[in-house]
Amino acid sequence: MRYYLKIFGCQMNYSDAERISAFLDEYKIKQAASVDEADLVIFVTCGVRQSAEDRVYGQINNISKHYPKKKIILTGCLAHRKDVQRRLKGKVELFCEIKNFPKEIKKILNTKYQILNTKDKLCKDYLQITPKNSNPYTAHIPIMTGCNNFCSYCVVPYARGREYSRPAEDILREIKSLVKKRYKEIFLLGQNVNSYRSVKINFPKLLHKIEKILGNFWLVFLTSHPKDMSDELIEAIAQSKKICEYVSLPAQSGDNEILRKMNRHYTIAHYRKLIKKIKLSFEELRANSDQGKRLALDKLPPAISTDIIVGFPGETKKQFENTAKLMREIKFDMAYINQYSPRPETAAWKLKDNVSKKEKVRRDKLLTEILKKTALENNNKYVGNVIEVLVDKKLGSKLSFGELRANSKQGESLALEPHEYLAHTRTQKKVIFFSNKKIPIGSFQKIKITKAKAFGLVGKIN
Ligand code: SAH
Ligand code: SF4
Repeated sequence: MRYYLKIFGCQMNYSDAERISAFLDEYKIKQAASVDEADLVIFVTCGVRQSAEDRVYGQINNISKHYPKKKIILTGCLAHRKDVQRRLKGKVELFCEIKNFPKEIKKILNTKYQILNTKDKLCKDYLQITPKNSNPYTAHIPIMTGCNNFCSYCVVPYARGREYSRPAEDILREIKSLVKKRYKEIFLLGQNVNSYRSVKINFPKLLHKIEKILGNFWLVFLTSHPKDMSDELIEAIAQSKKICEYVSLPAQSGDNEILRKMNRHYTIAHYRKLIKKIKLSFEELRANSDQGKRLALDKLPPAISTDIIVGFPGETKKQFENTAKLMREIKFDMAYINQYSPRPETAAWKLKDNVSKKEKVRRDKLLTEILKKTALENNNKYVGNVIEVLVDKKLGSKLSFGELRANSKQGESLALEPHEYLAHTRTQKKVIFFSNKKIPIGSFQKIKITKAKAFGLVGKIN
């Protein structure tokens, strides 16, 4: 028996899929290279926006039409929804929430397929499964699941349930084992990592414990909620050598009235103050640091990323303008801009979705234009600096090489350097660089940045 995974949505789903893979491996159920070769097709679904949901329906309908014998299993953020179950009745063999995946899938394997030897390996908590990491140098570790915040637009607390923090020992054990295998980058995942708490360990304390693990690795975490970003956490970020200079702090809106309707529990003044504090604490650290802790990023500010929703019910042009103003002012490095999509079960579901699609698209585009400008402005500060990067892949495409060469003042020298690579910085900026030597994938390298683009940098090996 073989399975194929279809994964939608955020890093948490990709991380869950690594646990599903490890679990099925144990029962000698092999991963297929395509749907064609699979007996089971497992959908790890996302319910954050209607578009993600529609893609799932489209693909399931397609599979059940063309491959009626294949068994479809649906897990992730749509699995618990009764309307989804009704809609896909007869096409999906099993709907199961991720936390019940081990138990439920075993039941099916035992009863329907008589796959033996599954009785004694009862796995109570799916988070205790050691994942089958899909990348050999970057790993994503969920430190908590669920959410208690009930932002009025958001389905996560319904789809994933209440907040649960994994025991710190489990997280530390998982990281130590990855570092032993020479992993270079660890992402800690949670819907609101700042509210992590397990017994007496809060998030900054967990970070201190991770910092003490010996080894050269980068540490990144997603996502922080502005209402819970404490001074203790900002200090921990700025002082750590391992924590990357990348802060993901979703603002969602730049207007206080909309934030109130979103049930976000902070004001824009609070958000501004946080950004100021984060930037200041990095500057102070640099001024006091005598050991060049942060390599080439010494001279550069931390990267700030945000999430924004445009067209929340009742968002007026003026209220939207406040978001545009915030974006111009903060000068984000990255912003995930989302057009509001009404979600069943949420509080905002009852509000009239009264900003037209056309207007949502306009607002989305306008913010994207601001982002392009501010990101480019920030990226320009990298030019001339030598930056540490983590190498992701070798690029073979003549086209992008040619394009880059055409765009680069250094065209002639680049023409002599045939190897082109994609990498990223500690600030999660993509870097294309050239080298006349072959470079190992998953290694740290120092790159001299020669050119900045809105969403990336170009450089050469130093
Ligand atoms: N826990 C994170 C985000 C989780 S969902 C936080 O608190 O910020 C990821 C992003 O999807 C959100 O930041 C939001 O911008 C977007 N999103 C969530 N629900 C949405 C909806 N109903 N319509 C449009 N975007 C939405
Ligand atoms: Fe959703 Fe808000 Fe929880 Fe983030 S904090 S997952 S946006 S409810």
